[in-house]
Amino acid sequence: MCHACIIDGIKSSVGHCAVAASGSMHTDAGFIDASSQGRLREGVSISRVVDLTHTLTPDFPSFFGKAFEEENKFAFEKDGLNLKVIKYAEHVGTHFDAPIHFSADGLSIDEIPVERLVCPLVVIDVRIGAHKDRDYRLSLADISAFEREHGEIPENACVAMWSGWEAHLGTERYRGEDSNGVLHFPGFHEEVADFLIRERQVNGIAVDTMSLDRGCSTDSKVHYRWLPSGRYGIENLANLVALPPVGATLIAGAPKIEGATGGPGRVMALV
Ligand SMILES: [Zn+2]
Repeated sequence: MCHACIIDGIKSSVGHCAVAASGSMHTDAGFIDASSQGRLREGVSISRVVDLTHTLTPDFPSFFGKAFEEENKFAFEKDGLNLKVIKYAEHVGTHFDAPIHFSADGLSIDEIPVERLVCPLVVIDVRIGAHKDRDYRLSLADISAFEREHGEIPENACVAMWSGWEAHLGTERYRGEDSNGVLHFPGFHEEVADFLIRERQVNGIAVDTMSLDRGCSTDSKVHYRWLPSGRYGIENLANLVALPPVGATLIAGAPKIEGATGGPGRVMALV
């Protein structure tokens, strides 16, 4: 897809963004005034699209055994077309958590307003802490340190935890299951969930691990505080290494399945 197409797509999805062709920094890029999307700085040029989505394979690490099962319903040689029936739990691979996942009557994934799915994306690097402690939780101290260096997290942003866990994909360490069946990987601290709801009014939080809560959590406090507030989560993100701490725009391609509690989607960022 050309940059003009991407920009047109953003223009139509966020409606009131002023977009103009740019001849200065990138011949085929544009400038977006995305002030309507919180405080994404003005004059952001788009030079690349980063795919934040892992390819979902049957053996992708999950909570439910095989990530999906497939059946070849039609085969080209026999039927003149290829078509598969794929069965999966909603929460596999790079996927969304909708508010109803951890609440009695929250929004289902199809009900999340589309303008919340296109927003500034900030990336908080906790790789050092996560390397030292696989049960690490992104803390209020991490938020303070990030904001001292990069400024306040913008309203309506999505806040991603970058633990570096993607490097463990394909090894036992990604799930980190111990001899008692307890998983070990980093996640958010519930105090951060409270802070981002109360003080920053962000749209979503995201992780490069299997869960918003750390793997050894027994009470899913982050899920129980975050999702009932009407916000979404994204889990198993890929490629955060390719993003700046601030300045990227999230394109969160959540599935639109009636009543679903989440589901795998295509997650991208414009940089
Ligand atoms: Zn989930």
